[in-house]
Formats: sequence, C-alpha cells, structure tokens
Amino acid sequence: DYALEGKRVWVAGQRGMVGSALMRRLAGEDCTLIPEDRDRLDLTRQAEVEAFVAETRPQAVILAAAKVGGIHANSTQPAAFLYDNLMIEANIIHACAGVGVEKLLFLGSSCIYPREAPQPISEDSLLTGPLEPTNEWYAIAKIAGIKLCQAYRRQHGHDYISAMPTNMYGPGDNFHPENSHVPAALMRRFHEAKEAGAPEVAVWGTGRPLREFLYVDDLADACVLLLRRYSHERTVNVGTGEDIPISAFAEAVRDTVGFTGRLVYDTTRPDGTPRKVLDVSTLAGLGWRAPTSLHDGLTQYYRWFLDHIADLR
Ligand code: GDP
Repeated sequence: DYALEGKRVWVAGQRGMVGSALMRRLAGEDCTLIPEDRDRLDLTRQAEVEAFVAETRPQAVILAAAKVGGIHANSTQPAAFLYDNLMIEANIIHACAGVGVEKLLFLGSSCIYPREAPQPISEDSLLTGPLEPTNEWYAIAKIAGIKLCQAYRRQHGHDYISAMPTNMYGPGDNFHPENSHVPAALMRRFHEAKEAGAPEVAVWGTGRPLREFLYVDDLADACVLLLRRYSHERTVNVGTGEDIPISAFAEAVRDTVGFTGRLVYDTTRPDGTPRKVLDVSTLAGLGWRAPTSLHDGLTQYYRWFLDHIADLR
C-alpha cells in the first residue's frame, strides 16, 4: 500500500468539479495539499508545468485537470478537446516523472471505451473497437493519458495508475445551457422553467439512451482508495454500476427541482451512444461501492445550485 500520510499532494485541476471534490476529500487526510496558482500555471504550457513541479515537489499527484464538456461542446470543438487534453496530460505526467513523483493517478472518462462495447463495460474493452463519434476527440486524448501512465510504468518503473469515472454531477459543475453535461443542463432548465412558470421543458434526444451517474464526492472517495491500494497498469472503472434511461433521469431532476410542467423530447438533438454503464467489479473487489444514491446526490446538487446561482460559470 502507498502511504499518503505526511506527503505533499498535488491535485492538478483543483478548481474544477472533480478537483475541488478531491480537495474536500483530501482535507480530511494527513497530507499537505499543494495550492495551484492559476495566474502562473497554464497546464497546456510545458515550461510552466515543469517550473511548478520543480518548485512545489509533489510526492503524489491526482491528474483531474481537463478540458471537458457535454455532447455539443465535444462535437463542435474537436481541436480544443484533443489538443488541450493531450498537452495537459503529457506535460504533467512527464514533468512528474522528471522529479520522481512516487504515485500518480490519471483520471479519464468512460467515453474512452468503444461505442459497441459489451455492457456493463469492462476495463478490458479498451481499444477493442471504434469510438462514439460525438466525443472521440476527448476520448483519444484520454486513451493517450492511460497509455502514458502504462508507458512510464513499463519504461521507468513509476507507480502511475489511471481510473475512468462514469458520467458525473455535483458541486462545482458547469451549468452552461449548451456546453454542459445532461445533469447540469436539465437542473438549470427545470429550475428556470419553474421560476418562469413555463409549461414545458425540452430534453435533448429521444430520452431512450441509458446512462450511469456518479456523485462527484463518491469519485473523490474512490480516488483516495486507489491512490493507496491500487498499483497496476490496467485502468479502473469508477461508477455505480447502475444505469437509467435519460427520460427517467430527467424526471428525477424534475422532481428534485419541483417543476410540475411537461417534458418534451427534442429529437433534432443527438442521443449519443445508446448505452454506457461500467462494470465496477474491480473496485468492488477492493471493497468499495458508491455510497450516495441518485436521490440524495440530486438533492445535494440542487442545494449547491441554489446557493451558487448568482455566480454560475
Ligand atoms: P454523453 O454521456 O457523452 O452523451 O454526455 P451528455 O451528458 O452530454 O449527454 C447524455 C445524454 O443526455 C445524451 O443522450 C443527450 O442527448 C441527453 N440529454 C438530454 N438533454 C440534454 C441536455 O440538455 N444537455 C446535454 N448535454 N445532454 C442532454
């Protein structure tokens, strides 16, 4: 096992939804968290990353920095999703190896798996078939990140591991109406419709795709476990192992918000991949399962949204 106690830990991307959940979770551990100075640290710039790592000398790193977005953002900004993510992960992993970072956990996404992968998706499905075209740019970058960890492990013996979270939601999410993921988009749309007394809310696509949703604090908890207990080149899925149709998910968000109008399906919008649910048996083998139910997670999510509505990104 890797001992976190007394270590200098860098959460790369600590202002994002995942990074801030990791900072909350690690605040309860006996380790020193390295603060990021956003004005002096552009993670897509190799020289800035190298200078930061040389100065702060992290011993353990969680790579939670990424350019992220929903189905629309991914398909309309392919260059940004591929380039930014490749640069961020290459710069960080290489710089960390250079200063002897002992343990590094790289975070990817369940969209790295082939569109037609057998469900629930095993970690062994990686690179067995073509990707979902709406997010292949992001997926290719994240696959390169997994491979970087494997390559540095093989060539230099570094204990660099990777984990692939499913679709997430939680405090710090991006609530942009076009570019966000489905939980944030729907929460905001239902809330605004309720406030305006609107009769209906549009849900993209047919409502039939199946998705799995993980509360971000649960991901943070799993990451700390993996940092301590996992040391292998095979990536690890992080999810609930349960999926739900988008239509039922939309109804759950509607009920959380308390909107009483109708849902209409906008089929001019894409469905994306038909089903995406992770096989979470690797984590279950380490004794972990996601502690937060969808109902509780959505309740906490809405409370956070109401508290931050004035300064949403
Ligand atoms: P994906 O899992 O990579 O497809 O990411 P998304 O979170 O963007 O979309 C998940 C599913 O929710 C897709 O089937 C979308 O069509 C559907 N969806 C329904 N309404 C919305 C919405 O308002 N925004 C987004 N992003 N997706 C929506």
